[in-house]
Amino acid sequence: MPESTSTPGRTARKWLLTQNSDLRRIGVFNWTLPAFVIELPDGSHFNVCPQAGVCAQLCYARVGTYRFKNVRAAHIRNLLLCRDTPEEFERQMTEELRHKRYVGKWIRVHDSGEFFSDDYLLTWMRIMRNSPGVRFYCYTKEISRFKRLVVNDAPDNFLWCYSLGGKEDHLIDLNTERHADVFPDVEALIAAEYTDQTESDLLSVLSESPLVGIPANRIPHLLKKQGRETFGSLQRARDEKLRAKNERAGQRFALAH
Ligand code: SF4
Repeated sequence: MPESTSTPGRTARKWLLTQNSDLRRIGVFNWTLPAFVIELPDGSHFNVCPQAGVCAQLCYARVGTYRFKNVRAAHIRNLLLCRDTPEEFERQMTEELRHKRYVGKWIRVHDSGEFFSDDYLLTWMRIMRNSPGVRFYCYTKEISRFKRLVVNDAPDNFLWCYSLGGKEDHLIDLNTERHADVFPDVEALIAAEYTDQTESDLLSVLSESPLVGIPANRIPHLLKKQGRETFGSLQRARDEKLRAKNERAGQRFALAH
């Protein structure tokens, strides 16, 4: 659970970064945003995961405890802080990361939510560079944004793993680029020769093989929806359907002109 901080000069408030028992076991702290399209307190809507594809329909962060009122409120508070007052977010996060509890630790940026804009990603990269004693990692579906802004200019203490199930899956070289796919179970990911990251989430960025397999969360209705497919195979099927539809529309347009 979040705790109060006693860093001098800061009013008592909760930590920005949290930790559950699984993450504590492997020395990881976590920054979380809401998942996908959410309604904000002023009635407006915001898409926190612009490149989400099939994952949005299978997202564990849109069900269960993530829907509890207090949990949702905390995630929305995080979003409003980093989206609407980015300088304040950067200041608070950089200051918090100086605390001794983070020395030598890993920060997972987002267990839900995404790098929703260039500015937000660049803010995190500055925070990382100003926190040299801390290490950072993430999964991301923001493939083109990462290729444009991170790949050739990554902070030394930042590792990432592309994650399948998004609209930009086709930009990932599945043979050479580190990526994660969500399988129905461990047996399926082993059969596909992916590395099982169940033992430690850090294997997503530290495993020898760049092919990282995640067994789907045991949430019955989501498991049923996923069937024997992976997020990657479902997205490829959706992309193909869209491509065929666009092709048909193109042919109709050509015939009519
Ligand atoms: S990108 Fe991640 S958090 Fe967002 S909808 Fe997809 S699985 Fe959920």
